Amino acid sequence: MSTRYAITSLVLLACAGVPAQAAAPAAPVQSITQIKGDLYRGSFGNWNTVFLVTPEGIVLADPLNVGFATWLKAQLDERFKVPVRYVIYSHSHWDHAEGGNVFAATAKFVGHENMLRNMDGRIPHMPGGFVDLNDNRAFEREEIRDRPTHPDYRGVCGSNFFARLDVDRDDHVTPAEYHANIRRPDIVYSDRMTLVLGGKRIELLHPGKNHANDGTVLVFPAERAVFSSDFPADALVTASMRSMPSACGNFDGHPLADWVRSYRTLEALDFDVLIQGHGSPTFVKADVAEGRQYFEDLIADVTAGMAKGLGPDELKQTVRLEKYRDWQNYERLREDNVVSAYYNLKLYR
Ligand SMILES: [Zn+2]
Ligand SMILES: [Zn+2]
Repeated sequence: MSTRYAITSLVLLACAGVPAQAAAPAAPVQSITQIKGDLYRGSFGNWNTVFLVTPEGIVLADPLNVGFATWLKAQLDERFKVPVRYVIYSHSHWDHAEGGNVFAATAKFVGHENMLRNMDGRIPHMPGGFVDLNDNRAFEREEIRDRPTHPDYRGVCGSNFFARLDVDRDDHVTPAEYHANIRRPDIVYSDRMTLVLGGKRIELLHPGKNHANDGTVLVFPAERAVFSSDFPADALVTASMRSMPSACGNFDGHPLADWVRSYRTLEALDFDVLIQGHGSPTFVKADVAEGRQYFEDLIADVTAGMAKGLGPDELKQTVRLEKYRDWQNYERLREDNVVSAYYNLKLYR
């Protein structure tokens, strides 16, 4: 059985995850869908979270943003009449982690230990090409772009990031502004953690570095379900996992070998349903295997070209990744994937 509430939200359209061609923002639709038993997915436009209802309270993954969290809390109070006891962050990036304060009266907050480093006042790990180039401990507009040819497909590399986060409108986004609506975790773990509430078990594990450096995968053993965010499905995934990776920031500043290891960690888990922070369907293990295969093919082809002495411009021509021609954004992002892989492999030998 699946219950769906489609309620139009008044929350401002959030910035990351919106393809550039998605022009004029319609208000994101907020909904709750039953996944299996007491496990539900909550959605805000193309952002998703999950929650598990137990007799002693609710375990919620990402709060997503203040507006969604406020709406969700009202829904949970009305339907389930038990409080949220835990909020578990998939990772610390603002477009998934904001809004936790809504649940602070009843919940403990859980995240990977690197979240504390990312929230200690220094510049945090950021998705894609966000780098504090001038080392002034803030982001300026010119620092949140990838290389000039990289499409601004997520809206994160342009004005939306500033519209949402530059609260004092001084054209600098400081770590304090960036974290203003992200509640710090009370409980952190390094490798794996087990949480039990109301007779239900939830396993947390850190898959390694990929899109983020503080990622958590949530495993719901009784429901045979897994939730993670932005890895493997990034913000460009909508209807299918057959979508070229964004490859922003030469793969978010983490070695491609770590990405592959992360995929294999996910593949080794025992599950039937994969729920992702982006994308309308749920996924299966074969989707993860395909994504890992893509990375392995990309690494192999670019490595072979580099061994022949080819540089990024030549590799763009020769590494065609034909097998993936029908993937979403193949035309738009193939060259970027190749060039990003080149710089990644050059840096992390
Ligand atoms: Zn992210
Ligand atoms: Zn995302």
